[in-house]
Amino acid sequence: MSRLAFKYGTVHALKSDDVNKLKEKFLKHQLPVMAMAPILTHQEDISSYDYLIGKDENIFLTIKRQFSDLWLLIIDDAHLLSERQVDQLLQVAINLDVAVLCFGLRTDFRTSGFCGARRLLEIAPVLLKIPTYCECGREALFSVRKENGKITFSGSQILRGDEVSYEALCARCYYRKLIQYKKLKESGRM
Ligand SMILES: [Zn+2]
Repeated sequence: MSRLAFKYGTVHALKSDDVNKLKEKFLKHQLPVMAMAPILTHQEDISSYDYLIGKDENIFLTIKRQFSDLWLLIIDDAHLLSERQVDQLLQVAINLDVAVLCFGLRTDFRTSGFCGARRLLEIAPVLLKIPTYCECGREALFSVRKENGKITFSGSQILRGDEVSYEALCARCYYRKLIQYKKLKESGRM
């Protein structure tokens, strides 16, 4: 029986390049491997992955029907999968004997768990943290959002664009910046 693993972290813990490098490593040993990601955030980025997973797609059926000879399935941005899709990945590992390695964020910019990440933390037999570091040198715990260079704590859970960036912060720096943000808001300067 193969296993489902979740390697999680903050933003910048892993780059799409790393997923490709990992894939190349397995291909070199002639092990059938594929890299997939949810279609949600990668519509323009199709060349980085072998397959994009639809929002309501049954991943178990897709793997069973099309890719059952896989040895390893790598999922990038797995935090964006639905709970049901994460359950399907566990079935891929158990019933189709395909090792599943998921990468993703644990929490969003407001410290709430992404639904895919929450489910992975609940059911994945293997959990591995990818450490990243805050600007102060401590280990980062959260990801903070910047819009046009300014930190913000409001907005939708998923937001991408040229004016949007993310930064990894330790808990202490995160809450310090949150307090500053709230004070600025209350004083009407934002
Ligand atoms: Zn810090």
